[in-house]
Amino acid sequence: MDRQSESCCMICGEMKSEGIVVVHQFICSGCEQEIVRTDVKDAKYPIFIDRMRKLWMQLQA
Ligand SMILES: [Zn+2]
Repeated sequence: MDRQSESCCMICGEMKSEGIVVVHQFICSGCEQEIVRTDVKDAKYPIFIDRMRKLWMQLQA
């Protein structure tokens, strides 16, 4: 991964240079941290999971 270039985060939709690539989709470091911190019982958690699931479904299609 080229850390110099900016990528569009799949979670927040912002252009960021720092982050990780999961199944060819970029997640910025801020959103990654938020996902890691988010408890399974947190209301936000299903939103993250839903986005990830849609992504994986697209790849499997
Ligand atoms: Zn983000």
